Amino acid sequence: MSITTSSAQQGGLWSNLALWKKILIGMIAGIIVGAIMGPDAEMLKPIGTLFINAIKMLIVPLVFCSLVVGVTAMQDSAKMGRMGLKSIVIYLMTTAVAITIGLGLGTLLEPGAGLNMVADANAAAVAKEAPSLVSTIINLIPKNPIEALAGGKILQIIVFALGLGIALNMIGEKGEPAVKIFNSLAEAMFKLTELVMKFAPYGIFALMAWVAGKYGMDVLLPLFKVIGAVYLGCVLHVLVVYTGAISFIAGLPPMQYLKGIINAQMMAFSSTSSSGTLPVSIRCARENLGVSKGTASFVLPLGATINMDGTALYQGVAALFVAQAFGIDLSTADYLTIIATATLASVGTAGVPGAGLIMLSLVLTTVGLPMEGLAIIAGIDRILDMARTSVNVSGDLMVSVLIGKSEGELDESIYNAHEPVTEPEAETDSITATRTA
Ligand code: ASP
Repeated sequence: MSITTSSAQQGGLWSNLALWKKILIGMIAGIIVGAIMGPDAEMLKPIGTLFINAIKMLIVPLVFCSLVVGVTAMQDSAKMGRMGLKSIVIYLMTTAVAITIGLGLGTLLEPGAGLNMVADANAAAVAKEAPSLVSTIINLIPKNPIEALAGGKILQIIVFALGLGIALNMIGEKGEPAVKIFNSLAEAMFKLTELVMKFAPYGIFALMAWVAGKYGMDVLLPLFKVIGAVYLGCVLHVLVVYTGAISFIAGLPPMQYLKGIINAQMMAFSSTSSSGTLPVSIRCARENLGVSKGTASFVLPLGATINMDGTALYQGVAALFVAQAFGIDLSTADYLTIIATATLASVGTAGVPGAGLIMLSLVLTTVGLPMEGLAIIAGIDRILDMARTSVNVSGDLMVSVLIGKSEGELDESIYNAHEPVTEPEAETDSITATRTA
């Protein structure tokens, strides 16, 4: 500890700042620089890409190792099944609420009113086909786990890791050497995440500069209402639904939740990828929210793949925007269809940039809305993706707290700690302390 303090003192103001403050400064500075440089800010993008690649490098080994470790730490398979089922039910329920908020705001604020667009019968956009339920289920099992790992197929990786973990538990002593290796690899991956995150403020600075430079005010102003409606919905969903669930279902102070997830939110905002944010989310859940390693490594990868509340909310607003812009009236049945389709589509949406836009085509075709609407939304999709991905990640973290609390897998002393732990040395200490406690 004394080493940390003295090195921090020597490092000056910048190195003394908590990571989330550095990221926030990077973000704001990026927006200012992007606004000044305009499209030239594109030249900064490689710095952001470097950072995103470094984070992506962590996903597969981190999810795989920490999930195997999580399962072997759990031993109790009934508990695991219960946790999985509970997570999926809460994920789907919050998604349905999110899209209802999106539809509500779309009706109230009428973002597409007055645009008077006319649908072109020869629109070029091609609708995405809905994957069938049977093929989705069949595809859960990887024919070749190495291929699943190489292709970054998170759901398949989850299934294989669960199977491997359960098998290791069943063979008892014989499985111990492998468990030790996975434990040590998982620890190393957490350390690597911490190292990569030191670069986050600079990577995020570059990404924000690029976005701000690309979308000047000219692009943003006409579509300001859609952006406003999506952002308002996202803020409401986090501040009302998530903090409500934390207070009333888990009985925990919501401020701690909001403080604890800020790094993950900022990472999601700038990277627009919930899978990409996974290493940071797992870290936030364990170190700031006190969710146990097993629970965090199980609930969060699942959430990053199937839980997309922000995406569903955005699809609600976007569908109404398109209907209003083209002067099409929607019936109550259409609204219900949008809720059902967007909820299911959000399960099938990958946690990668822009995936929600592709799924929007599915929602639009299901209710017979013109595909040209997609092109208008596509122009500003990155701006919308930033908000919806932050919500997606916040939702996964909220569910990890609820599950942790209900399964006795939440360390409330970490959750209630006054400040999120941000100094790397202190973080390592706190995990070790929890683990040995
Ligand atoms: N970018 C979002 C995510 O990774 C998915 C989307 O495009 O809506 O969560």
